[in-house]
Amino acid sequence: MNEIFLLKLGEIVLKGGNKRQFENKLRQNIRRRLKPYGEFDVYLLQSTVYVEPQGADADLEGAWEACRSVFGIVSVCRCRACEKNVDAIYETAERYFGEELETVRSFKVESKRSDKSFPLSSIALSQEIGGQLAEAHPSCAVDVHWPAFTVYVEVRDLAAYVHGPAEPGAGGLPTGVGGRAMCLLSGGIDSPVAAYMIAKRGVEIECVHFFSYPYTSEQAKSKVLELARLVCRYSGRMTVNIVPFTQIQEAIRDLCPEEYFTLIMRRFMMEIAQRLAREDGCGALVTGENLGQVASQTMEAMAVTGEAVSLPIFMPLVGMDKEEIVTIARRIGTMETSILPYEDCCTVFTPRHPKTKPTLAQVQRAEQPLAREELIAQALAGVEKLPVRFHDAQYL
Ligand code: ATP
Ligand code: MG
Repeated sequence: MNEIFLLKLGEIVLKGGNKRQFENKLRQNIRRRLKPYGEFDVYLLQSTVYVEPQGADADLEGAWEACRSVFGIVSVCRCRACEKNVDAIYETAERYFGEELETVRSFKVESKRSDKSFPLSSIALSQEIGGQLAEAHPSCAVDVHWPAFTVYVEVRDLAAYVHGPAEPGAGGLPTGVGGRAMCLLSGGIDSPVAAYMIAKRGVEIECVHFFSYPYTSEQAKSKVLELARLVCRYSGRMTVNIVPFTQIQEAIRDLCPEEYFTLIMRRFMMEIAQRLAREDGCGALVTGENLGQVASQTMEAMAVTGEAVSLPIFMPLVGMDKEEIVTIARRIGTMETSILPYEDCCTVFTPRHPKTKPTLAQVQRAEQPLAREELIAQALAGVEKLPVRFHDAQYL
C-alpha cells in the first residue's frame, strides 16, 4: 500500500457545537494546499485527517511540506496502511522499518486501537509485533523505557497504520474560522511575524504596505511582496494593498513639527488601513508593534496612534523580546528576507528627537495644518491591489 499522511487535529477537538464547521474548513484548506502536488483523497475520521495520494505521480515531498504548514494540525506523521491482522501489521512494519532497526540499538512498539473489535489488546499487539521484529533483528534490543526508536501501530476503523515518530504540525486554528484582518506589513522583521501569528489563530490575512517612492525603491516593494508570499505558506493566499505614501510624508515634513513626524505618519497609516479593512470585510488591524522597542512604541505613543481608528488593533508581538521574535522569524522562513537592506519608508523621514511621551492634544495640534481628508482620498485612489500566493515566483 502507498504511504499516507495522518494529521492530528489540534484545538478543534475542544470545540463544541461548531466543531463540524471547523473540520470542514480545515479539510477545505488542506485540499486547496495540496492542489499543486497532484491528486489526494482527504478525509477526516476520529479527530484525524487522512491524506492519501491517488496515483503514482503525486509529489509526496511537496505535499508533506504543505501539510506541515496548515494551521489546525498539532502533529503529522507519514505511515503505511495495511489490513487489520497481526501478519499484515508485522510485514508492513518490517518492510517500512526493517532497515532502520538494523542501525539502532533498541526499539519498542507502541500500539493504540480505536477499533475495539480488534481481537488483541494494545499491549498484546505491541508484544506480538515487537517480539517478531526483535527476532528478525537480533542486534536491536527491545527497550520499553528508553528506546532509540519507536514503531507505532494504530488500529483504526478502516485499516491498521504503521508509522515512526510524529512531527509537530503548524498548530493554531484553521485559516478562515476566525474572520479576516488587515495587517500593516513593512519590510522589517516584526510585521511578517505578526501576520503569521494572527493567521495562526484562524484569521484570514490581507496586507497593506505604505510605499514612498522614490524615497524607497522598487526593490523595497518587491521585498514586501516576497515577505507576503512567504507568509502565504501558512496563511494561504492574500491580497497586498500597496498605498502610495509619498505625498502624505512630504506634506507632514513640510507642514508639521519634526518631533511628531513619525506619530502623525503612523496615524495616517492606521486610518488608511482601517478604510481598506472595512472595504474588504476585515474586522481588525494587525501591526508588529512591540512595547518599548522604538520611540513610536511607548505606551503613550501607541495610545495616540490607536486613537486614529476604531477597529481593534491586534499586536501579537507587543510583549515579546526581540530575540523571541527573531526565533519565530527564522523558523517560519521570513528572517533572511527581512534583513535585506532596502529602506523602509519610516526610516526616510525619521525625526532626530522623536517625542516619546506625546499627548493626543499635542499631536492633533501638530497635524492640524494638513488637508487630512484630501491626502487620504488621494492615497486611496492610487492603491494597487496585488494578489499573492505562495506558489507565485519569488519577487526578489
Ligand atoms: P517592523 O519590523 O515590522 O518593520 P518595526 O519594529 O520596524 O517593525 P515600526 O517601523 O515602528 O516598527 O513599525 C511598527 C509597525 O507599523 C510595523 O510592525 C508595521 O505593522 C507597521 N508599519 C511600519 N511601516 C510600515 C509600512 N511602510 N507599511 C505598512 N506597515 C508599516
Ligand atoms: Mg519597520
